[in-house]
Amino acid sequence: MVIEVVVRNPYRRSWKAAEKTERRHSRVEQVLLALMSVAGLLLPLIYSATHWLDFADYRLPAYLLWSGVAVMAGAVFLFFRAHHDLKANWSSVLEIFDGHVLVTEGIYSVIRHPIYASGFLLGAAQILLLQNWIAGPATMIVYIPLYILYVPAEEKMMLDTFGDQYRDYLKRTGGLIPRLSKAG
Ligand code: SAH
Repeated sequence: MVIEVVVRNPYRRSWKAAEKTERRHSRVEQVLLALMSVAGLLLPLIYSATHWLDFADYRLPAYLLWSGVAVMAGAVFLFFRAHHDLKANWSSVLEIFDGHVLVTEGIYSVIRHPIYASGFLLGAAQILLLQNWIAGPATMIVYIPLYILYVPAEEKMMLDTFGDQYRDYLKRTGGLIPRLSKAG
């Protein structure tokens, strides 16, 4: 979480400074984003620093714990790579900026939602690393409805903004995992 905040910081600054031409955030989305901080930061901190959640602990074998470390490293790498490719086009809520360009290079040439894919990987890593029925699955539980709500709205906004350019992009890329066959 700390690494991700540091990685994101320069993009957050340019996002704050950018002139927005389109804003499509909803109240539900903002509530779910706030819940993400509870699930991804507050509950892990409570789990690590107190005994309050001990009653809900579970135990996994060590190899699964180490797999969790590997999954988390993959998530952080994907997060870094996506921000590096998206540059000033990143925003934490659904927005289009003055001078927004459709990025289809780098990791975005393979999947459309690497940042969300990284979120799912982090959610999976949390289940493996925080072996507790409350703190473990918390991120995944919030992330699934957030993804279901966010992605259609984001893709609709991108279609409205970039039209055929985004329609073509949709055909040749996967959402979270790469497309195996080329669409006709
Ligand atoms: N869904 C992407 C981006 C998340 S950030 C991912 O998971 O990596 C959300 C913002 O990024 C959206 O509001 C949109 O403005 C912008 N965005 C999403 N895909 C983009 C793309 N391919 N090119 C440029 N901007 C994009």
